[in-house]
Amino acid sequence: MSSSSKPAFDPSEHPHRRYNPLTRSFVLCSPHRTKRPWQGAQESPQTTQLPAYDEKCYLCPGNDRATGGKNDRYESTFFFENDYAALMPLDVEQSSDADSHPLLRMEPARGRCYVICFHPSHNLTLAQLSTAPYTAATHIVPIIRAWQDLYLRIPAENPFVKYVQIFENKGSAMGCSNPHPHGQVWSLDYIPEEPAKELESQKAWALDAANAEERISLGVRDDKGRPSLLLTIAKLELTSKDRPRVICANDDFVAIVPFWAVWPFEVLVLPAKRQIPAISDLSSDEAASLAQILGEVACRLDNVFQCSFPYSMGIHQRPVAASASASSASAGACNHGHGHGDDDSWDYAQLHIHFYPPLLRSASVRKFLVGFEMMAEPQRDLTAEQAAKRIRDCDTTHYLAKLAQ
Ligand SMILES: [Zn+2]
Ligand SMILES: [Zn+2]
Repeated sequence: MSSSSKPAFDPSEHPHRRYNPLTRSFVLCSPHRTKRPWQGAQESPQTTQLPAYDEKCYLCPGNDRATGGKNDRYESTFFFENDYAALMPLDVEQSSDADSHPLLRMEPARGRCYVICFHPSHNLTLAQLSTAPYTAATHIVPIIRAWQDLYLRIPAENPFVKYVQIFENKGSAMGCSNPHPHGQVWSLDYIPEEPAKELESQKAWALDAANAEERISLGVRDDKGRPSLLLTIAKLELTSKDRPRVICANDDFVAIVPFWAVWPFEVLVLPAKRQIPAISDLSSDEAASLAQILGEVACRLDNVFQCSFPYSMGIHQRPVAASASASSASAGACNHGHGHGDDDSWDYAQLHIHFYPPLLRSASVRKFLVGFEMMAEPQRDLTAEQAAKRIRDCDTTHYLAKLAQ
């Protein structure tokens, strides 16, 4: 007890704010609200299985798509250009309207969008692909290969592309309209807000001399010898006593519930050994490691509430087409007025994967970012440490495979 008679701050007890160094923002934590004992999943396991093939599904092999395209009779991972793309490659001339008011600003956006069917089976999610008879090496590595292919192919074919956003929106709770396991790849002629913010943070961290100190950097450096925000976080989590926020780790990656998580069971997958700027920079061993840890994380999440855990998952990485865009970059990083994330920040990029899953207490009780969170800042009750323990306590065998035994 201090002389002030104030109780000592206890982060497992007292409301506090946690800092997110990637977005340089805060989340309000209210751990006292979880003091009641955990009620656990009150629902029986979700066992309704979709068929392996659905003749009406526009993603199943050999099926027709609404716009007249037809899917290959694919046997592994398969991608095609999105028939309802959010962006178009069309280059338009922006008129310089002298009368336009600076408060009413807009700029054209170009891009191409692709859909990746993870697997021919209509009913096999990423979460199930690392439990026998499936293996991450055989069934998830092809997904990573497709990501690599598109990351390289899109800018090669479309030199205007600056950023490739790879993501998966899983489950109707996240607004996903087709249950066939699939992801998306949107490419853009600018760096969107979230990755731009994070690239700037990674750069600022590397350039801050204070972070070069051993106590802060933990002796970790990126491939150019600079302090690395995300490599340091990986080391900090892996070397902390009892690893309270680590879910799992392998030779090359670590999965954590980040200290600053907003979503109850939010997960961040980080390279643990070296700077890997983009998905195309993975060695084949690293691709296998990433496949393993992504499969394990998705499987554990499904097992938390014994349901197909919805989420938005996405990859942040180095922007592309550095050479192709060099000429426009020299005219000023923001010459198109597109946000921030100047080209100089690209050099500090570290590949990482975010999972934002909305479920809170059961397969049907989810968190909404509303009220205080819309008006003020994000807030959570469950601490990152409690969430990590819940996920860590889950099996790495998918619950549906166990139920089938
Ligand atoms: Zn399907
Ligand atoms: Zn990120």
